[in-house]
Amino acid sequence: MKPSTTSDERMPKLVVFDLDYTLWDMWIDTHVTGPLRREKNTHNEILDKHGEVISFYNHVPQILHRLREAGVKIAVASRTSAPTLKIHEKTGIPYEEMVFYDDEHRNKETEQLGVTFCLVRRQMDHDTFEKGLAEWRRRHPAPPQEDEE
Ligand SMILES: [Mg+2]
Repeated sequence: MKPSTTSDERMPKLVVFDLDYTLWDMWIDTHVTGPLRREKNTHNEILDKHGEVISFYNHVPQILHRLREAGVKIAVASRTSAPTLKIHEKTGIPYEEMVFYDDEHRNKETEQLGVTFCLVRRQMDHDTFEKGLAEWRRRHPAPPQEDEE
């Protein structure tokens, strides 16, 4: 028998992250020059051509790991709703199954599609992650369990 999942554990099928100032502390397209390399066995740290360090915000590796463990697809998008739209076309995952984390409030417009948008106020961290999931669960309640008669 499978243990019944509580509503608290449900996850969307896809989580989309903006990159700059959501997952890391920079504009990747203007501050980084390839090729990128990793020195020794550093975790969460790679270097660009000029030795500039590129790291995710502290909580990000754990958040990504947690999503992978839960079998949730991960996608990245930057700017406008267009990338989100393409993700839907490519994956066939409905917008209602997506949570989108972004530091730019204007991208809340993706909610018109049915995506759950979560504003990242300072940086992506565990609290922000949970906030987005909680909002998605609130909007998309679990269907009643048929075996609870
Ligand atoms: Mg950004």
